[in-house]
Amino acid sequence: MTLPELQEAVRQMQEPGYRAKQIYQWLHIRKVQEFSEMTDLPAVLRTKLESDFKIPRLKIARKLSSQIDNTIKYLYQLPDGQHIETVLMHYQHGWRLCISTQVGCKMGCQFCASTIAGYVRNLTASEMLLQIDETERDAGVSVSGIVLMGIGEPLDNFDHVMRFLELLSDPAGRQMSLRHVTISTCGIVPRIRELADRKTGLTLAVSLHQATNTQRNKIMPVNKRYPLEELMCACQYYFEKTGRRVTYEYAVIEHENNNLADAKALAELLKHQQAHVNLIPVNSVRERNYHATRQSAQKFMKYLEDLGIHATIRRTLGSDIQAACGQLRHETEEHF
Ligand code: SAH
Repeated sequence: MTLPELQEAVRQMQEPGYRAKQIYQWLHIRKVQEFSEMTDLPAVLRTKLESDFKIPRLKIARKLSSQIDNTIKYLYQLPDGQHIETVLMHYQHGWRLCISTQVGCKMGCQFCASTIAGYVRNLTASEMLLQIDETERDAGVSVSGIVLMGIGEPLDNFDHVMRFLELLSDPAGRQMSLRHVTISTCGIVPRIRELADRKTGLTLAVSLHQATNTQRNKIMPVNKRYPLEELMCACQYYFEKTGRRVTYEYAVIEHENNNLADAKALAELLKHQQAHVNLIPVNSVRERNYHATRQSAQKFMKYLEDLGIHATIRRTLGSDIQAACGQLRHETEEHF
């Protein structure tokens, strides 16, 4: 619940309005897990809250800790028994958390494991917040940045994601600046425009992976609905409205998208944009025959630089607990 919603619920319980703020702060600042811990509320109210409301929890179904860096990958079980992944990463400036936004995904990107097991449902805003809370509690850290790059397509779950952002940044609660949040999308054009209009200040990352419609259609079905011309116009609109530079993600796939002609097509596509390209050697997914090395990503980066496009190769974290997007969930669903 947002604070106004909680205020309404408290009013209906015939309680004074200021109780809502107390409860809200217990939930979002002190992050308690039981109503009984809300010690400044009268005992009768605590009992009533316990019987009428529920503070949901996520269960750690599996946890993989990297031996070479501080990355931790969690497989969380949701209250209805479904599974999602959350990954905690350590960066120079603190801890960053990669969260899931859906159980499974319907986008059908060929190289992505999240889509293979199919789509089940959207996550609620609280299930997104809980990934932060449970992880901070378990790992004993405080997360300073959030990326919506786990399982699911965030812009296909727009309303819950917007509600999550509202709760996350609420000055009366968690107060996280949305400048520390990145949303990654495969390119749902109308939603990119809507997000731009909201001027949230967050960073938009767009998963490009191919620079021509013919090639992108083959690996990303969303491109048939929203082709590159429309996508690039929406990205330009995002930049104009928000002043925030869009990041383009490009998974380098050997023999698919990494030769000089591909780099030229990408440079052509981005020539009028304030673009930054984030390269990542594709993670192999068991069911698919895609692979790449860091060297091939470096070679592709060089092509791009020579063509005047700013690019970096994403740091690889937790390579010993390696699993591409959705693989841990996918593996676990197969076992049970
Ligand atoms: N649905 C959103 C966010 C989730 S995926 C999106 O498409 O952007 C997060 C990023 O990981 C996307 O850029 C996605 O294309 C990329 N990705 C998925 N599978 C991958 C793989 N096997 N190797 C490298 N990147 C992958």
